[in-house]
Amino acid sequence: MEIRENLRKIEEQIGEACRRVGRDEREVTLVAVSKTKPVDMLKSAYEAGARQFGENKVQELVSKIPQMPSDAKWHMIGHLQTNKVRQVTGKTALIHSADSIRLVREIEKESARQELVTDILLEVNAAREESKFGFFLEEVEEALCEIKNFPHVKVRGLMTIAPFVSCAEDNRGVFRKLYQFYVDIKSKNIDNVTMDILSMGMTGDFQVAIEEGATMVRVGTGIFGAR
Ligand SMILES: *Cc1c(COP(=O)(O)O)cnc(C)c1O
Repeated sequence: MEIRENLRKIEEQIGEACRRVGRDEREVTLVAVSKTKPVDMLKSAYEAGARQFGENKVQELVSKIPQMPSDAKWHMIGHLQTNKVRQVTGKTALIHSADSIRLVREIEKESARQELVTDILLEVNAAREESKFGFFLEEVEEALCEIKNFPHVKVRGLMTIAPFVSCAEDNRGVFRKLYQFYVDIKSKNIDNVTMDILSMGMTGDFQVAIEEGATMVRVGTGIFGAR
């Protein structure tokens, strides 16, 4: 089946990127971005070994979860409206797209109500694109100062969606900048903030992202084909 071959190829490329910069490939987690794809295709990926799935719409996410084996892990990678937080807390391994303090407050409130702790990444608009959600770099620390007091939210790291470019190399600077920032924040040892996940890189640029320090890559097209 084609999905299995695609998955093997992406895993190989992850390994190659790691070797180029002397990283251990076990440091990098592949999230199979299955948005818009039918559950049959997710099952093929699961059978080929994929366990981490990324979705960007709440409704699609919650409808796919019960159709898949219970050890599949779910990543919310799309913009999340505050009124839909209730539907995803307790169901996701990680919310990558915590893109405003208002949203994080809501995740805290819902997680408290459900008596759980929700792992999140702060989404950073690293290239300052107008069309994108997320914190600007200089807003992250202030946000963390508030979030560190939230008992039901744990910040595990940062996520970015790099600009759409035709040459992956063009995003190297963005990835490098975010990695440096991530290391910087990590070194501050803020309460309640672990900084062990840096989610960056998609089909077009995940190898460059890994060379620049990504610990999680989100690959859709490269595994499931064009949308
Ligand atoms: C769709 C999507 C991806 C995957 O994109 P591909 O180019 O298909 O690999 C990754 N991250 C986010 C946030 C997405 O919305």
